[in-house]
Amino acid sequence: MKTPAGIYIHIPFCAIKCMYCDFYSIAEKEDAIPRFVKTIVSEIEQCNVDTTNWNINTIFIGGGTPSLLDSEHIEIILKALQTKYDLSQLSEFTIEANPGEAPKNRLIDFRSLGINRLSIGVQSLEPDILRFLTRIHTVEQVFETFENARSARFDNVNCDLIYSIPGQSWDIWNRDLNKILDLGPEHISAYTLTLEKGTNLFKLVKGKQVKMPNDDKTSKWFLKTHEIFDSRGYPSYEISNFSLRGFECLHNLHYWKIYPYLAFGPSAHGFDGKNRWSNIRHLDGYMDKIESNKSPITFRESLTENQIQNEKIGFGLRMAKGINEKLVDKDILKKAIQKWPNCIHVQNHFIQLTQNGLVFADAISVDLML
Ligand code: SF4
Repeated sequence: MKTPAGIYIHIPFCAIKCMYCDFYSIAEKEDAIPRFVKTIVSEIEQCNVDTTNWNINTIFIGGGTPSLLDSEHIEIILKALQTKYDLSQLSEFTIEANPGEAPKNRLIDFRSLGINRLSIGVQSLEPDILRFLTRIHTVEQVFETFENARSARFDNVNCDLIYSIPGQSWDIWNRDLNKILDLGPEHISAYTLTLEKGTNLFKLVKGKQVKMPNDDKTSKWFLKTHEIFDSRGYPSYEISNFSLRGFECLHNLHYWKIYPYLAFGPSAHGFDGKNRWSNIRHLDGYMDKIESNKSPITFRESLTENQIQNEKIGFGLRMAKGINEKLVDKDILKKAIQKWPNCIHVQNHFIQLTQNGLVFADAISVDLML
């Protein structure tokens, strides 16, 4: 039986660098796109990971802002993948797009390439909050891009949202979330704003120019947000991911179930079920290496059985389904249940976190690890 597996492609180009963003992305380098596409094709051709026992059923083109690439460039990358890998079992093919940076014709062309899932970086519907986040799109462009996605026959659309942002009131978030729910996307990712080192947001907070919402407030919003999703028919299948039934993101489920995946592009991380690696986090360095027949990989590690088991616990507990109780030592589980009242329950041999437990998911996972 083959293992389900995915392919991730990292497109690092963005129109501007958002102040909170820790993903590897680079602004004002779009003239490098043709060279980058050639390079990523070479990386795919050179890849020597043994995928014989993999069933590749997802592709995710993320970034960055992949919708800045035109469909001809995406097609070149796709052809390289098709030449090298058996994609006959592909069931989910996602591309990320930003409002205002994904014209309707381009979406139609993406759809005709077989891309069947569009992930739109909405983040907020409040102009002041979009400005604070240094997002360059307007609220109107969010609705326009969503409508264009539907006319391009995307019937699996995700909207990314961020909440618990400085200056955002509960009323604003509640209104924005309900407006997005009214649109009826199949999937919504809703993350609380996190502070990442090296971002402009981090500098502003450190310089006391911006104050992040406290943990208590964020936890309350988290619980109330989950209630709204539940009441609107979008149960959470992962701590920050909500969908209509049958529209869970298969590609992200591969990560959380510790299935293997290939990854191409600067900063991309791959995993073959035992070894993990990542590419250089620098566009020019990435292209130079590949063009001179050198590996772009700058980090590798082999995971021990215990590390793999701990990853299954850490990621698994973030999912509604939870983890098989066999993964956790019985005494460790007993102690954790006592330490975290109303947070953990065991059902049909699966350990799951309650809504309260999800607030403390990271700390509980550590307590359950080997
Ligand atoms: S558009 Fe997305 S990837 Fe690009 S800088 Fe903003 S948040 Fe980061």
